[in-house]
Amino acid sequence: MPARDHFHSVMRIGPVQIGTHRDRHGHTKHAAVCTNDRCGWSADYSSQSAAQLAARTHRCTAR
Ligand SMILES: [Zn+2]
Repeated sequence: MPARDHFHSVMRIGPVQIGTHRDRHGHTKHAAVCTNDRCGWSADYSSQSAAQLAARTHRCTAR
């Protein structure tokens, strides 16, 4: 998974880890990061519920 500065893990849904971090503007972003090395999917969302929804619907390409 990509190294993110100040990444704080909040929860985990399946292979996807949800966490918060600050973007370069100082805003808190909610990141969904797949922990499967062969997948490598990650995305930023402005709300935690959006990140959770993305984590639940994420289909791992490496399955
Ligand atoms: Zn995945």
